[in-house]
Amino acid sequence: MMKYISTRGNAPELSFEDVLLTGLASDGGLYVPKDVPTFSLEEISSWRDLPYAELAHKVIYPFVEGSVDADALQKMINEVYKGFGHKAVAPLQQLDNNEYVLELFHGPTLAFKDFALQLLGRLLDYILERRNEKVVIMGATSGDTGSAAIEGTKACRNVDIFILHPHNKVSEVQRRQMTTVSGDNIFNIAIEGNFDQAQDMVKASFGDQSFLRGERKLVAVNSINWARIMSQIVYYFYSSLNLGGPLRPISYSVPTGNFGDIFAGYMAKKMGLPIEQLIIATNSNDVLHRLMSKNQYEVRPLKHTLTPSMDIAVSSNFERLLFDLYDQNGVELAALMTKMNARDDIVSLSEDRLAKAREIFDSYAVDEHATIDTMKQVFAETGYLLDPHTAIGVKAACECRRNMKTPMITLGTAHPVKFEDAVKRAGFDMPELPHHLSDLMTREERMDVLPADIDMVQQFIAEKTFAQ
Ligand SMILES: *Cc1c(COP(=O)(O)O)cnc(C)c1O
Repeated sequence: MMKYISTRGNAPELSFEDVLLTGLASDGGLYVPKDVPTFSLEEISSWRDLPYAELAHKVIYPFVEGSVDADALQKMINEVYKGFGHKAVAPLQQLDNNEYVLELFHGPTLAFKDFALQLLGRLLDYILERRNEKVVIMGATSGDTGSAAIEGTKACRNVDIFILHPHNKVSEVQRRQMTTVSGDNIFNIAIEGNFDQAQDMVKASFGDQSFLRGERKLVAVNSINWARIMSQIVYYFYSSLNLGGPLRPISYSVPTGNFGDIFAGYMAKKMGLPIEQLIIATNSNDVLHRLMSKNQYEVRPLKHTLTPSMDIAVSSNFERLLFDLYDQNGVELAALMTKMNARDDIVSLSEDRLAKAREIFDSYAVDEHATIDTMKQVFAETGYLLDPHTAIGVKAACECRRNMKTPMITLGTAHPVKFEDAVKRAGFDMPELPHHLSDLMTREERMDVLPADIDMVQQFIAEKTFAQ
């Protein structure tokens, strides 16, 4: 049975199902597996011809053992990836001799977040059904997460979901991907305010949940949720096996915001997959790049960019990597996190810890100009239109590559049709919506507009939850 421990060393050990329902640990840390499952090269090699869903079971099952039955897991995984718009689920696209994009945008909402949130919804419902419990998901979104969470939970019988977005401040495609999903358990709240106000209301609600009646509690589906990272490990194995791994190493460039997707790559390496290099590709919100390149951790105000899904001031999952760099010493890490979160000083890591990170990780920050240029250049060279987030990954791969003989895979995190501003700035016509979304612009929308007032939002949630 897999056990999970907190990065700050002062919270109870939990099973997978409790971690799924818990979010942050009680000591403020993040949960990580106590013993990471590892596989030999022979075993990984033997998975070479498996379809995505069977490979996913091999990688995911050890993390949920004791909480989820093996057959039930396979059934959920099959359902999830059958719903993707490409039979290979995560196909590779070649850009140059040894350069690839891993297309992670064939899920229902056209971004990689579907890989995890589709499964997360099913896992939640499975566990809640068995425990005879119901929960409320509450989240704030400026784009990709909200729609993926709604699509992932729309069929859940034990979950009500409330997603707040800033009214008139998300793109029409992104709004419609949230508001046109039908289900009695889905509530879109457009807040008359900005994203930060919506986010603050969500944080405050998690802090004091007394507004919820009955036995309900809030569950977070943001990127610190372990089940999301776990699901994302699979495509590192899948893409490596498709390019001759594990008998040769592969490098990855990962467009990074909260460090979730790239942490999954680091996990794959810990589990035995030969990965030579992991590139942290950021936009101008470059807190991690400044730490990796100059050993200076300094939180700066958020900048709004053409790559909104990577707009973060603090990269929350980085704590999971720091835990390993500090030899899983929770006491030491808790002290470091207190310094990092105080934000009144520039924090440095000890040189030997940073050197350990630099063995595998490189980093690069890409500004808007270079993002647009990369979209144009790759299109001119290959006829392939990158979304702006993926373009940041491709640019960073090109700048940081250590070894031309190792295949470099950039994670293709979203479909360009979701990011109209960047596509237009780069001078392209908008691509067509994929077939399953072709009527998106004419579907009926459902949402409630509320003022940026926490009492009114909480009252709304309590009433809608209670009404069922
Ligand atoms: C969420 C997202 C990212 C960032 O992923 P993290 O796991 O937060 O690092 C990058 N690109 C797109 C398109 C996303 O939706």
